[in-house]
Amino acid sequence: PFDVLIVGAGHGGAQAAIALRQRKFEGTIAMLGDEPELPYERPPLSKEYLAGDKPFERLLIRPAAFWVDRDITLLPGQRVVSVDAPAHQVITADGATIGYRTLIWATGGAPRRLPCAGHDLSGVHGVRTRADVDRMIAELPAVTHAIVIGGGYIGLEAAAVLTKLGKPVTVLEAAPRVLARVAGEPLSHFYEAEHRAHGVDLRTGVTVESIVGQDGAASGVRLADGTVLPGNLVIVGIGIIPAVAPLLAAGADGGNGVSVDALCRTSLPDIFAIGDCAAHPNPYADGAVIRLESVQNANDQATTVAKLLTGEETPYDAVPWFWSNQYDLKLQTVGLSIGHDAVVLRGDVAARSFSVIYLKHGHVIALDCVNATRDYVQGRALVVARAVVDPARLADATVPLKELLP
Ligand code: FAD
Repeated sequence: PFDVLIVGAGHGGAQAAIALRQRKFEGTIAMLGDEPELPYERPPLSKEYLAGDKPFERLLIRPAAFWVDRDITLLPGQRVVSVDAPAHQVITADGATIGYRTLIWATGGAPRRLPCAGHDLSGVHGVRTRADVDRMIAELPAVTHAIVIGGGYIGLEAAAVLTKLGKPVTVLEAAPRVLARVAGEPLSHFYEAEHRAHGVDLRTGVTVESIVGQDGAASGVRLADGTVLPGNLVIVGIGIIPAVAPLLAAGADGGNGVSVDALCRTSLPDIFAIGDCAAHPNPYADGAVIRLESVQNANDQATTVAKLLTGEETPYDAVPWFWSNQYDLKLQTVGLSIGHDAVVLRGDVAARSFSVIYLKHGHVIALDCVNATRDYVQGRALVVARAVVDPARLADATVPLKELLP
């Protein structure tokens, strides 16, 4: 058996292996993943990679030689279909059995499919892997009109890129505003206005009835009110389903993700879970059990496990952060705005440089900073301290946030 077997060769899996070796872990490490590539960064897929501004080689988390030098065995193109926890083995789709002493489950999730007719037509894409985006890029020359279903970060980023590439784009969001799950109203309305100013036909509060097509290929989207919008590229960005079925079938606690404690331990012996698939208690959500879909969370949970396996027990307590690039707008967020009861606007929305500061019971819990890196950097300490600051002072952009730390 391998001393450490990592399932999922994405952000979390790669960082677990890297951190183990950095911390002088001397046992055997294998990392198995169902994609054919070396571990690569996912965020550029809906940004520079889709835009054609960054070749795939520049997305690699480490060059090929790194894994060889560190004696990390890569097993690409293999999918685990079941886990035998008592026997400490996983079984792959090819029927191979691989033993482990410690298993790190870092499988992320698969794009949620539209629960309607036409979801499987050609021209309909999720955005999760390099293969997804390569398929989209191959179709681009023939694309006359793109439709993005879902106004979350990935959908909006794709809409911005396609607009930049000269394609007419429609964005359809079921909720009354975009980014409703992750951001406050001022940010949602700002991004809606930006997309419209760039020519995007952005519609909120609309329900997709089906995807319509001809000869197996998508040709448009029919809304619940009967309207048919033309589009021969349909991007579906409506969230992911965590890839945890084999673990749950093996008896691990969970549901929407696999449940882990603050050390990323599942309920099964010697099995950890990290990243997008791990439902964990998060100190920045008042200890609520949540899944976070961010590079920060995947990397920091990987480090939590690597520390534990090398003798250092440090419960996961990392500050959440995230970014999104759309047009020339650089959004940086720190903290979690879940459960906020007040919002302070700081800076100049019209000048496209501002921050939205989220408060809960008077404490600063999160910031969304648009073209405002200084607020992002300095606001972090306010979030960590859960600082209580007079909202009028937070709103005064002439006072640097670092001066507001009590
Ligand atoms: P992943 O990186 O998804 O890795 C999981 C791997 O496991 C995948 O290769 C998967 O195919 C594989 N796998 C799944 N099941 C199995 C199995 N049974 N057997 C073998 N292998 C399996 N985050 C940010 O912080 N900022 C951003 O700007 C940002 N932009 C994003 C844009 C896009 C288009 C996407 C898709 C994500 C973005 N994210 C962003 C989110 C970020 O990429 C994820 O949070 C991160 O990749 C999670 O890492 P992970 O290790 O949990 O999962």
